Amino acid sequence: SIVVIGSANADLVIEVDRRPAGGETLIGSDLVITPGGKGANQAVAAGLLGADVAFVGCVGADGNGDLLRRSLESAGVRTAGMATADRPTGCALIVVTPDGENSIVVSPGANGRVTPDLMAEHEAEWSRAFIVVMQHEVPLETVTYMAAQCRERGVRFVLNAAPAADVPGDVLAACDPLVVNETEAALVVGVPADAAEPAELGRQLLDRGARSVVITLGAQGSLAVLPDGTVVTHPAERVTAVDTTGAGDAFVGAMAAALASGQNIEHALALGTRVAAVAVQRRGAQASYPRRDEL
Ligand code: ADP
Repeated sequence: SIVVIGSANADLVIEVDRRPAGGETLIGSDLVITPGGKGANQAVAAGLLGADVAFVGCVGADGNGDLLRRSLESAGVRTAGMATADRPTGCALIVVTPDGENSIVVSPGANGRVTPDLMAEHEAEWSRAFIVVMQHEVPLETVTYMAAQCRERGVRFVLNAAPAADVPGDVLAACDPLVVNETEAALVVGVPADAAEPAELGRQLLDRGARSVVITLGAQGSLAVLPDGTVVTHPAERVTAVDTTGAGDAFVGAMAAALASGQNIEHALALGTRVAAVAVQRRGAQASYPRRDEL
């Protein structure tokens, strides 16, 4: 099974003609509240593809928490490992411009309660998983804890190091693969963005100990650096992007579904690409993800 450990957020989305400048007030569209958060998104993406998925995370005792729970469950994701905290459900304030680009402010709220203690409490949920998938929207100490646990127990560990933050060496050594976009890759390597070709960044991440690496390149597609150092590339589908919110998460969730069904990284890139291409053509994060029969 796949266990996704991570964030669940309510996405509060307003469409605007352009991004507001500092001190400026803009008038936007009606507010749309949709289920999001990188962890929940990835779990839903994998669940909709028919994978056996459990989500471990934390929401508040509020309407947004109910929204997240319903979305996960209707995608077939098990939520027994989802705790309710004394803090509000995490939320993301998102503005989307006509080109489909977004700007986001995240309030972690209950995601801050996804601690190593909570992991220990829910050990039964993840200890027999085939693959554990995490991201950077929960405390870093929890990522470190789970990377060590997975290494010890021989559970495959996938880290999507987003939002961009450094990845300690012992965490990197557990990643199979580490999944990052170009910005995140440069940050983890420790070079300025655009200082190196993506394949070079990928090789450097492998040199630093990652077991394998996947770098997503937006409309340019993606590449993987396999454990033996081979680089494979996969083009994106040529589609018109309406809303790229959660595209990277769709990619990661679909990759996990492919890996959990025994496919190799190349096939996982292919499925990630197909699912992300659908996601960018529809609005919302989880709301934009396809079921297997829609592919
Ligand atoms: P993130 O949003 O995490 O930075 P990317 O922008 O790299 O992630 O997108 C992840 C994947 O989604 C890409 O590898 C690609 O397959 C797909 N994708 C993103 N933008 C587009 C686009 N405009 N057209 C087609 N596919 C896209």
